[in-house]
Amino acid sequence: MDKINIKNLEIFAKHGVYSEENVLGQKFIISCTLYTDLRSAGLKDELEKSLDYGQIITSIKEIVENNVYKLIETVAQSIADGLLEENEMLKQVWVEVKKPWAPVAAHLETVSVEILRKKHIAYIALGSNMGDREAYLGFAIDELNKTPHCRVMKVSEFINTEPYGDVEQDDFLNAVLIMETLLSPYELLELVQEIENKADRVRTVRWGPRTLDLDIIFYDDIVLSEDNLRIPHAQAHMRGFVLEPLVKLSPNFMHPLLSKTVSELLDELNKEELGNNNNNES
Ligand code: ADP
Ligand code: MG
Repeated sequence: MDKINIKNLEIFAKHGVYSEENVLGQKFIISCTLYTDLRSAGLKDELEKSLDYGQIITSIKEIVENNVYKLIETVAQSIADGLLEENEMLKQVWVEVKKPWAPVAAHLETVSVEILRKKHIAYIALGSNMGDREAYLGFAIDELNKTPHCRVMKVSEFINTEPYGDVEQDDFLNAVLIMETLLSPYELLELVQEIENKADRVRTVRWGPRTLDLDIIFYDDIVLSEDNLRIPHAQAHMRGFVLEPLVKLSPNFMHPLLSKTVSELLDELNKEELGNNNNNES
């Protein structure tokens, strides 16, 4: 990806663990690399096609001057989050915060932290089969969208589906959405579980009735297999009610473990089900 570099921007501010630092202040030196696509700006020679580094420097100064943090880790994190949030074109950012006058009893040139942060794309499957199902799905979409560092980009149609598994229960309303997020996969899991709880979800029978179920289907192209979190979702490729809306949103998205597009996975599933039905009939 193309880059814009901002090197050694000096800002006087009051971050530090010691209260003296919070009163007297000291010099901080910030560097950033902004990752974006500059081809169109380069061809058209128009500022709107690029990131306005003047504006970005103003934002960095505001974040660093108008807050008081204990750690330079937090200064760096706030800059990264602030810039990613404010600038749609910015996909990834590297931030370095140097503290040349760090209060330690030693001679050194500088102490610094460096972080690399990016926007992630997550696919969430939504389901409800109790109460006002449409309202529960709408509630989940709003909650996700209003969470800081999360933006819902596309939502599929809501589809009515028959329940999965052996439990006798009402039909489900299902959907899939695509969101942009700065949260890590675990933070995102915590968030969706909080939203499920807010929707009066009570965990009883596995695959039983629920007011709201939110599953993380994909998160970029990562593969993760922990006890409480598997990405891609372990059953996604076997569930028509996930694949169908997914195909409408993003047919060519590649399942990172199965190396097939979601559209191919849906075709396979449909063929399999057709085969099973034919076997049952004969
Ligand atoms: P299900 O969605 O399979 O019907 P639950 O919603 O009750 O069941 O989820 C059970 C557990 O699944 C959760 O406690 C969560 O930790 C775990 N889990 C594992 N991977 C995922 C994922 N990708 N998305 C959401 N939950 C997950
Ligand atoms: Mg779930």
